[in-house]
Formats: sequence, C-alpha cells, structure tokens
Amino acid sequence: MKRVVIVGGVAGGMSAATRLRRLNSDIEIVVLEKSGHVSYANCGLPYYVGGVIEDESALLLQTPQSLHDRFRLDVRVHSEVLEINREVKSVTVLERESAEVYTLSYDKLILSTGASPIVPPIAGIERAFTLRTIEDVEAIVKQVSKAPKNAVIIGGGFIGLEIAENFVHKGIQTTIVEASAQVLAPLDPEMAVFLERELSDNGVKLHLGVSASSISENAVQLSDGREIPAELVILAIGVRPDTSLARGAGLVVGPKGGVSVNEVNLTNDENIYAIGDLAEKIDELDGSATLVPLANLANRHGRVVADHISGKNIRVVKTIGTAIVKVFNLTVATTGWNEKRLKSAKIDYRVIHSHPNSHAGYYPDAQQMTLKLLFAPQSGEIYGAQAVGHDGVDKRIDVIATAIRGEISAPELADLELAYAPPFGSAKDPVNMLGYIAENVLRDVVKTVQWNEIDQYVQQGYHIVDVRTAFEFAQGSIPRAINIPVDEIRERISEIPGKKVLLTCQVGQRGHTATMYLKSLGYDAVNLDGGYLLWKSSPAKVSQERKATANV
Ligand SMILES: Cc1cc2nc3c(=O)[nH]c(=O)nc-3n(C[C@H](O)[C@H](O)[C@H](O)COP(=O)(O)OP(=O)(O)OC[C@H]3O[C@@H](n4cnc5c(N)ncnc54)[C@H](O)[C@@H]3O)c2cc1C
Repeated sequence: MKRVVIVGGVAGGMSAATRLRRLNSDIEIVVLEKSGHVSYANCGLPYYVGGVIEDESALLLQTPQSLHDRFRLDVRVHSEVLEINREVKSVTVLERESAEVYTLSYDKLILSTGASPIVPPIAGIERAFTLRTIEDVEAIVKQVSKAPKNAVIIGGGFIGLEIAENFVHKGIQTTIVEASAQVLAPLDPEMAVFLERELSDNGVKLHLGVSASSISENAVQLSDGREIPAELVILAIGVRPDTSLARGAGLVVGPKGGVSVNEVNLTNDENIYAIGDLAEKIDELDGSATLVPLANLANRHGRVVADHISGKNIRVVKTIGTAIVKVFNLTVATTGWNEKRLKSAKIDYRVIHSHPNSHAGYYPDAQQMTLKLLFAPQSGEIYGAQAVGHDGVDKRIDVIATAIRGEISAPELADLELAYAPPFGSAKDPVNMLGYIAENVLRDVVKTVQWNEIDQYVQQGYHIVDVRTAFEFAQGSIPRAINIPVDEIRERISEIPGKKVLLTCQVGQRGHTATMYLKSLGYDAVNLDGGYLLWKSSPAKVSQERKATANV
C-alpha cells in the first residue's frame, strides 16, 4: 500500500491520520479538508462565542505545518473533494482558493466528512447562523460584537443550550424555541425540568412545544402565532450525516441516514472506510444501527480504521451514547437508553431516582444531584442512566457508563469500591446507593411508585402519607397527602385511614423506612420513588405551575 487519502481533517480524520503514521512510517498520508482549518476543537466553539475561551488560536489544536513537522502528513486545507471515482480509485479535488481541480489516486480512502446542521425550509432561514466550523464561529462572533439586544436560538439540544449560556454571558436577552415539549431530548421529561428551571433562573426564555415558522428581519415567528424579537438567530435543531460525497459514489446509506459500515468501518467498497458522524454506529444494547454524533466515537473510529489498514486486530466500536453538557451552574449527563426509548421499543424496565449529595453532607459545599437509573426487571442489566446536578455528576455517569460496558448489573453497582474521602464522595457513594435501591426493587423488598402513577394508586384506594416533618409539609405537598412524620409513625399509626398506603418524603429515603415498617405490620405499603422533590419537578406539575403563572 502506498497512499491513504483521508477526507475531512478534524476529529475522526485526524485521529486516523496520526495513528496511521505511528503504525507506518513508509506510507503517504494525504488529508483533504474543505474548510481553512484542520484539527480544530469544534466542541469548544460555543465557549469562544461567550468569551470563556478568549483566544481563537486556542481552538486550533494543530496546523498543516505542525502536522507535517511531527507526522509528515500532507494536509491540504481549502481542498474540497467533489467526487470519488471508485473504478479508478481516485478523488477529484477542488482547491478552493485557486479554483484548481485535480485528481488524486488512493489505495485506501477514509471518509470523515462529519455531519451538517439540519436546515428546515422556512422563510427567512438564510438569516439564521449555524455552528460547525471555525468560519461559522467567526461569523457569529462578528454579529455578537455588534452587541445585539436579543437573540433566538432555534433548538434546545446540546449546542443550542451551550450557545444560550454564552449569549447570556454576553448580555444578550436569549430565547430558546424548541419544538418538542422539553429541552435536551436524551433526558426524560422529569429530569429535563431541572435544566429548564436553570435556564429560566438565568434569564433564558423558553418556548417549548412550538416551532419557528418563519424568520423576518428582526424577529422569529412561531407556529402558535407569537413573534419573538431577534436581532440574531441561531439554528441548532440537530445534525445529519454529510453523505453527499458518499451517496454520489454509490456507497450504501443505512436506515438511519448515515453511511452503512461493517464492524471495521468498511463501506460496501472494500477500499473505502467511513467514520465519525458520517457513519452509522452499532448500538451496544441491542446491536441496531444508530447515529451518535459525538467526538469520542469519531476518535475511536479513526483509530480502528488505522489499525485495520495496518493489519492490526481491532475491537469493534459500539456506542451507548454517553454525553454531558454544562448549562450555567448545572451539569447534565446521560448514558445508555432513556425511558422514552425503552417505552417506545416496548422493553420492560425498572426505574429508580435518587437525590444524593455530591459528597459527605457534613463536609462544606455538598450539593444535591438527581440520578435516574433504568434496568432490566429480571437480570438487572443496566439500560441507562441520567444525572443532573452541580458537582460530581460527571463522575457518577462515567462510572455507570463503565458498568454498562463491563456488563455490571444494577445491584452490582453496590459492590463497586469507589474512592472516598469526605470532600469527594460518601462511604456509600451515590452509585453504590443506586445499587442498593435497585437490589431492593428487584428482590421485591419494597415496591416503588413513579411520579406519574400516583393518581392510579389513589384510584385503587391507596392513602398518601407524607412522612416529612410538619415544617417541610407546610412548604408544599402532594394533594390529598396527610402528614405523619416518620419519627412519629409508630405512635400515630391509627391516623392512617386504611391498609393501603403510598408513602412519600422529600427524596424517598424516609419514605422507604416508613414503608418497611408498615409492611412489617401487614400493610400494603408502597414508596414514592424520588419523593416530593421529583414529583414537584414532574412535567404535569410544572406545566400546571407555568399556566398558573401565565394567568396571573
Ligand atoms: C459546536 C459543536 C459542539 C460540540 N460539542 C461536543 C461535545 O461537547 N462533546 C462531544 O462529544 N461532541 C461534540 N460535538 C460533536 C463533535 O465535534 C463531532 O462528533 C466530531 O467532531 C465528529 O468528527 P468527524 O470527524 O466525524 O467530523 P467533523 O469533526 O465535523 O469533521 C468533518 C470535516 O470534514 C470536512 N469535509 C466535509 N466534506 C468534505 C469534502 N467533501 N471535502 C473535504 N472536506 C470535507 C468538514 O469541513 C469538516 O471539517 C460538537 C460539535 C459542534 C459542531
């Protein structure tokens, strides 16, 4: 083999190029990139908008020259591949600055052309900015430097939320318009509510369940007839694999819209690989084709194809879609499948929520987080987890992501020996606690009820007993609940009107103690999972509150 040509010089493409060189000193490696930069940190782009990253050069991790110096790579920017000529194994390249067109032959071709922002066909869409490349961020920064008073971000996903935070840093009145009923689709709705509160608390206006229908000179019109002033409009409703080049060459595109590849990322052409956002991935949980446009996967793909081309054994890249985002003071992270997806796939599951502290409560600055774990009813196989909080969220989701990869079951989370000292965690870490709770649920030690099942239980004759203190109860409670603090339940048990009892407390822990006590007396007692804190964040409750506030 003499020459490997790589199309796309960022995450996947550049990982492949550098790994190839480390494994082969004697081959020619050409990287063709249509933008003016390679190896740039697209994940950092939103933070350059807000000035958190002050210097644009910090985003440029390498240059063609530095890549040549260290790896002897032939990196050509402003070089767009127009066509792949599979029969003769060459690509047609447009050098954009000189307008010269030439062909370049390859022995192996790696496509890492990424994903492009989805652009809906609505009037005025040309006014909206998208964010993918250095050139895109420069265009947005230029607009921001004109000090716009207001901006609308269409789309409440990862990129939309990051830009919103950065616009607020710049003093821009920011509105997010999101067509679905919640922000950040990988979260389940009761977890997204925490994030929506954080956005509102920081002055971001949210319009959920409505879409942008058109964009005029200084405003965005919504599907419900409202109009939002917008001197600046950002479009961030998602991305789709940039398959134009691959399609043109007759490469097979899979059911999800990405290039279809086998376990070593080869396309239907034995000399062409597709990697990163362009390629469909293998879902770790059910083996189905999926799209997960994230940097970790692009980098892993790059390494795998380099190894395969170099004749090395490879490990198949599968995905569980682990992701994280910072939104003002909150951190939100997810891994695996969410409840919405399990439901729509008709997969039976168990769910638990907990609200542990980030570290020992007696050590300063402990902060509460909310964790959600989904697992199989019999085997305890972990399907997924979500976390929202201020501190320590990344660590817990990463541990659970590792557990999924290592096929550790939900109850076995209790057995993980995790680093502990008071500033960092608890002797029973939040992840261990999830294991204990999961074990109780799987062994039917206790039956838990979800926030959206309360009415059902009440209709079946259950009485809601809130076992928090009278003071806590007075701050707000679930309708129809009576209050008997857990410490008084033995003396006041006669106040419970029947034998069917749904217990609740603030986070679920005191409720569990009371449930176990009542069960020991023969009561049909169930505990509200996640307690009042989660119920208070339930989408139905929050939408009730929003309506009430709107009517004031
Ligand atoms: C604003 C933003 C923030 C992000 N934040 C995160 C994050 O926090 N965490 C995370 O995991 N992921 C994040 N991502 C996603 C992550 O950057 C991508 O998953 C990753 O870069 C994909 O790598 P890739 O090589 O497949 O494609 P890309 O990195 O997109 O590179 C593709 C390159 O191919 C070039 N190209 C396309 N067509 C041609 C052609 N015909 N000829 C020549 N060149 C071509 C493009 O110009 C582009 O530079 C973010 C993405 C963006 C845009």
